[in-house]
Amino acid sequence: MYGSFGTPRPRTVAPGEYPVWDEALALVNHDLSALLPDRGPLRLVALPAWPEESADDEHASEHVYVALPDGRWHGNDLPPDAGAGPATALAAVAEAAQDTVLECLWQVWPVCAEHRLGMHPGQEDGQAVWRCAGGNDERGPGHVQARGHVQAPVGKLEESYRSRRERRKQRKENKQNKRSRRG
Ligand SMILES: [Zn+2]
Repeated sequence: MYGSFGTPRPRTVAPGEYPVWDEALALVNHDLSALLPDRGPLRLVALPAWPEESADDEHASEHVYVALPDGRWHGNDLPPDAGAGPATALAAVAEAAQDTVLECLWQVWPVCAEHRLGMHPGQEDGQAVWRCAGGNDERGPGHVQARGHVQAPVGKLEESYRSRRERRKQRKENKQNKRSRRG
């Protein structure tokens, strides 16, 4: 499977070939559609392992990437040991998706609605999460807290934004009610 210039051509990964990645990508796509509804869904593509790799590493049969619908991707392949746990797999797919969206579409995603900062995938309590570097704990001085906050578990961004929107709407309605009572 080599293109005309001797470079391997990526192949589309069929559903079910990498069930762990499939499951993770479904969640990441959910987050993508929450904020960039016209950009997805992302999909998996694979390139064969470089010849020198397959010689001494039986696991490196191919490299899997997270690509745009048109097949473009950027960044590293997914780590071959998908069995490291669902949270690790999910964080890895989220990171690969973020690289592809940033470098191919020049789009920072996802952005924290509160701090307007790009978030990064991480892990917290065995769960893959989107973490924002902005903001400090507001409980006052003397309370030591790591900088930043967790916005939402990966796959749950839409829910977190929806509840923010609803709270905002609620506040607005409350204000209007007060105003109309005064007027
Ligand atoms: Zn934030």
